[in-house]
Amino acid sequence: MSSFVSVVGDGRDVSSWGHPVLGQQGPVSVLDPNPWSYNAQTGVFPTSATKVPYRPTLEILAPENHKRLTHSELRKLQIKEAERISGLTMKEMGELQLAYMQGKADKAGKDIGEYLLDLAGRLGRPGGLGNQATWWPSLSAAQKASWQRRYDSVEKRLMQEAPAPIRQMLKEARALGPDKGIRFDPVACEKYIAYAICGNGTFSVGKSFVEDAEANPKRVYSNIAHELGGHWCYGGPVSMELLNHCLKQIADHQRVIATSGRSLHTIFGYPETEIYAELCELDWRIPTNSTDEPCRDIPAMLKLTKAAFEPSVARALVLALRYRVQLDPHVSGAARKLLDESIKDVFGRQFLSQAIGAPSRVDVGLGVLQRALGWSF
Ligand SMILES: [Zn+2]
Repeated sequence: MSSFVSVVGDGRDVSSWGHPVLGQQGPVSVLDPNPWSYNAQTGVFPTSATKVPYRPTLEILAPENHKRLTHSELRKLQIKEAERISGLTMKEMGELQLAYMQGKADKAGKDIGEYLLDLAGRLGRPGGLGNQATWWPSLSAAQKASWQRRYDSVEKRLMQEAPAPIRQMLKEARALGPDKGIRFDPVACEKYIAYAICGNGTFSVGKSFVEDAEANPKRVYSNIAHELGGHWCYGGPVSMELLNHCLKQIADHQRVIATSGRSLHTIFGYPETEIYAELCELDWRIPTNSTDEPCRDIPAMLKLTKAAFEPSVARALVLALRYRVQLDPHVSGAARKLLDESIKDVFGRQFLSQAIGAPSRVDVGLGVLQRALGWSF
């Protein structure tokens, strides 16, 4: 997991990566107009997941239409699936998560801010840019120029030799602007202690990437698929949206405490996008890849999710991610299988077999239940 940094969530969509057919057609939406407006007469969008039952349309579920789903459409489907599974809207899931964390904090005799700070200290990773670059500043101007030349020829070679889907990822990132696409930024990589960093369509690579690509370009394909095809395409993690909702609800001084230590994103957001990125790199891996290990990392990310979220929220998040992955044309069958096996390992063999048509028992306060079900007493 050395290439762990994900700076994602700008909402832009790159639907065609790894999918040459789409590249020719441009973005295609099979979901417009809004398929969640089940009331055809009024066209009213459901305000609560349970007030208007969720039914995936046959159109969406037809395999030939999966190929045309864009990443932002997939994300919308994922959110609706999480709402269907939990029986709660995103906002209500956020409230449930906050109540759960508050309960844990009360039990431990802590304020919510302290609880989150401790949780991050225990499960989180140090935030980005905490490290000081030392290698690059130690080089002479001539050495730096030599490294830049080595990088330039690596990039040229990748653009010529890499398989079409990998080239397409690099090309589309580059098309976003002059500073986008792949670039040599050893200082950023040192600061993040990363092999490569992806953010806003910019893929910054460091020293090890250049050395690996020089030795054998195939060694870096999985990293490109991970960062650009994975993290960047995925967009903002749904799980982080829930945490942000929680953070908005707590007092300012508590929020300052909660975010003063290790990154909360590494517990509440990163696992979701990292799972996707590791699934995307799976098919490009070769035996000498030394960075990630999807068979080990994906279960570890699921364990983090299990530890951080209220059980029914965790369940909704995991099953909705799985739903998205199943619909996603960029994810291979082998990768889908790995996700399923990892879920079974971490959450139990029965977890997936209960997925269809079995809303979870929602163990929440009466207020939330009332709102979710539209009951009045
Ligand atoms: Zn990653």
